[in-house]
Amino acid sequence: MAHLPNSESEQSSKLSNSSAESIAFSGLSFHFLTLFPELFLQVLQSSLLGKAQKRGLVSFSLIQLRDFATDPHRTVDDTPYGGGEGMLLKADVLYSAWKSIVDFSACERGKPKPLTVLLSPQGEIFSQKMAEELASYSGIIFICGHYEGVDQRFIDLCVDREVSIGDYVLTGGELPSLVLADAITRLIPGVVGNSRSLTEESLENGLLKYPQYTRPRIFKDLSVPEVLLKGDHSAIAEWRHAQRLERTIKKRPDLLKLRRF
Ligand code: SAM
Repeated sequence: MAHLPNSESEQSSKLSNSSAESIAFSGLSFHFLTLFPELFLQVLQSSLLGKAQKRGLVSFSLIQLRDFATDPHRTVDDTPYGGGEGMLLKADVLYSAWKSIVDFSACERGKPKPLTVLLSPQGEIFSQKMAEELASYSGIIFICGHYEGVDQRFIDLCVDREVSIGDYVLTGGELPSLVLADAITRLIPGVVGNSRSLTEESLENGLLKYPQYTRPRIFKDLSVPEVLLKGDHSAIAEWRHAQRLERTIKKRPDLLKLRRF
């Protein structure tokens, strides 16, 4: 299993199951089971995700599915029984790769079995609420499908949840898994510097975020709203709350149903 290195010079490093660093890790471990690990590096090493990993709040490991093929051609897919278009990822190869992560996690003292999530257009639609729920796990295995999908027996045996990022079909589960990892990581305490920016964020408690402005004060004859310039914090808070309500009613009235009063 290749753990994502903290710097590019470490990119070829691998940690073994008995690594003291892995055993001591107490944050959220994301494991990506994929045919295209190279797609992940830039995203996972940049911005908040990269910082969260460096600070030990999350860990990322990339598992190349092909490493678990048993034939000389490293075959990971085959044609569907009964005919039909395309190729399916093989259950035996997926299972060996998945089992290696589950066994690895069992070595991490006191850690429960990771949650196994299959990215799939047939899954439950991902939401902020689901991100909050998934952020409470200590380990998540993302199964990134490809081609026509995945042998059903692997799903029946190993998958806890099928998750979709929307009603459209993508080439593979790599981008969806990164979407989930990003949304979940932001919710882990300490990842986003100011925790207030999370509580006032779009979708929090069924409301969108208020409009925001920065310098210059006037841009192309458009001025920043007066209330934001006067330093009256209760007036600003009132204005922002009213703006959140107004925006939500206008852009996403469906969200108001999610509000907790
Ligand atoms: N034949 C499959 C079907 O009709 O359900 C679609 C396979 S799709 C081309 C290949 C892979 O991309 C899927 O196995 C899944 O992992 C991923 N994928 C595609 N669209 C997705 C979506 N909207 N959300 C999450 N994963 C998706």
